[in-house]
Amino acid sequence: SLTIGIVGLPNVGKSTLFNALTKNEVLAANYPFATIEPNVGVVGVPDPRLGKLAEIFSSQRVLPATVDFVDIAGIVRGASEGEGLGNKFLANIRESDAICQVIRAFKDDNVVHVDGKISPKDDIETINTELILADLQTIEKVLPRLEKEARVKKDKQPQVKAVQEAQAILEEGRTLFSAGIAQGTERAEPLHELHLLTTKPFIYVFNVDEDELTDESFKDEQRALLAPAEAVFLNAKLEADLAELDEEEALELLQTVGQEEPGLATLAHVGFRTLGLQTYLTAGPKEARAWTIKQGATAPEAAGVIHTDFQKGFIKAEVISYEDLLETGSVAEARSAGKARMEGKDYVMRDGDVVEFRFNV
Ligand code: GDP
Repeated sequence: SLTIGIVGLPNVGKSTLFNALTKNEVLAANYPFATIEPNVGVVGVPDPRLGKLAEIFSSQRVLPATVDFVDIAGIVRGASEGEGLGNKFLANIRESDAICQVIRAFKDDNVVHVDGKISPKDDIETINTELILADLQTIEKVLPRLEKEARVKKDKQPQVKAVQEAQAILEEGRTLFSAGIAQGTERAEPLHELHLLTTKPFIYVFNVDEDELTDESFKDEQRALLAPAEAVFLNAKLEADLAELDEEEALELLQTVGQEEPGLATLAHVGFRTLGLQTYLTAGPKEARAWTIKQGATAPEAAGVIHTDFQKGFIKAEVISYEDLLETGSVAEARSAGKARMEGKDYVMRDGDVVEFRFNV
């Protein structure tokens, strides 16, 4: 599955946040036999639709979609110089599908900032610089060979041009993602084989003081600065406390700081979207469940997420949109109201499709 790597300078609250991530009860309860690596936090993506489906189908349990966060420990500054921990740090980032940087914005004289002052902008630049330098090194290694090849193979020329363009952007101190060259998009295609780090989508998590959680002007300012990357604002200590509480107590605590949902829930949603994922839903007496697919996945691909045999033997999918099902109140009612569609193998799944697959075994 796709993963999001968590990075950040020392003492910004990464461990505190990661501990909160791994205290996720949803998963311990739903996947009791899953083996999860110690540096991986699997977070449920809260989805109120599942609770409603469970009511309609009298489902015994609810299984949300999940996002995997990987704690990428390691020395950050000097990583691009490629020694020891630095190499491992970069290799771990290379394996992630998105990068989540935790940034310190909380004030606390008892917690030392490595650079002696709290400056989100400088912290972001410190990390970005290492990633940019690593990408520049990668390019410097391969570009001469590519240029040589392109002199005989004309079809290599567009790739050379794309790599040169990427190099120019990086030399300006910008990440490729911020310049609109994001992994998985057409613009990043000619760069694919270089596995550049800064084409990965970025998420910024601001670890702010509790009383700053409602500071909308600070949040808007940061969001504008960091777009197209998304920004999430939370207090890591509060998240760790919330993870220990039951739902009702957690909601009460959230209210005292003017929040509607835990920051981790917001982070899960943002992470899911950033990875280009979406869900479809299934429901029955056993469980109401959200299944993870790539945006743009077809019905047979969606079926394959449940079981490869479902994909191989795919015949069709009966699809009811969640809204229609909620409005009609049952599958039978939805069918008689003409709201149940039979979709074939070319159907592109939409978020919130409630599905039952028909297949040959
Ligand atoms: P890491 O080095 O990035 O993993 O940071 P830690 O999670 O170990 O946190 C470093 C120190 O900052 C610890 O003493 C934490 O208790 C403290 N800390 C973490 N988050 C917060 C926060 O939101 N507010 C305050 N005041 N302290 C925090």
